Amino acid sequence: MQTAEIKTKAIVARAVPYGESDMIVTLVGVDTGTVTATARGCLRRGAKLRYAAEPFNFGDYVLVGRNGRYVITECSQIDSFNAVTRDLQSYYAAFMVLDALTKLCAEPQPSIMLAALKTLQRLAYTTDETDCAVTDFLLAALEESGNRLDFKHCNICKCQLDEEAYFNAADGIVCKHCKSIDAVPVDAACRAYIAGERGETSHALRVKANILLSEFVYSMSGVRINPRYFTEQI
Ligand SMILES: [Zn+2]
Repeated sequence: MQTAEIKTKAIVARAVPYGESDMIVTLVGVDTGTVTATARGCLRRGAKLRYAAEPFNFGDYVLVGRNGRYVITECSQIDSFNAVTRDLQSYYAAFMVLDALTKLCAEPQPSIMLAALKTLQRLAYTTDETDCAVTDFLLAALEESGNRLDFKHCNICKCQLDEEAYFNAADGIVCKHCKSIDAVPVDAACRAYIAGERGETSHALRVKANILLSEFVYSMSGVRINPRYFTEQI
């Protein structure tokens, strides 16, 4: 097999030192999905591609290699998302997003990637509540993987939901009359918040809703999003 050159917009999800001066980088590319690539010599002083191995760096990457073994040869930075480090809440949330992205993008998933980039932008550059950005990301991850959930209407009888609701992977979100025996309850406050029906919410409520949503992502797509992130928020 010939060595190929691949150009893709990609974000660094993880980077670990390797050998004297290399980094092994987990990249999520719009055109490649999740791949690992070596950034050679990038730990040397003054290395040109140091930033190309920094978590959150988003840019136009050029990779050379074959059989899933790549070397980063060029990177032109689009955004470093450096500002996510300004507070711990947004920093942890941003790492959760990267972790989820690597797992959701085993195959290229441009629309999930776009949702992740929008979330990182929100976390880095706006004063929006971190929990709300996380909620929207989880909803987008469901929708863009073909598992959209409607928290306003029962997915079976189509009635408008105004109290508690129930979830299972086969039925989606349903009312109490349509729920199956193994359905997971979604209490009225969580349902209203996720459906976007409520302005004032507490951190505790938003965390509870995000834990539920991360479980729904798991039961529908098999992707387990870093449970520690969610439990540490409680
Ligand atoms: Zn129903």
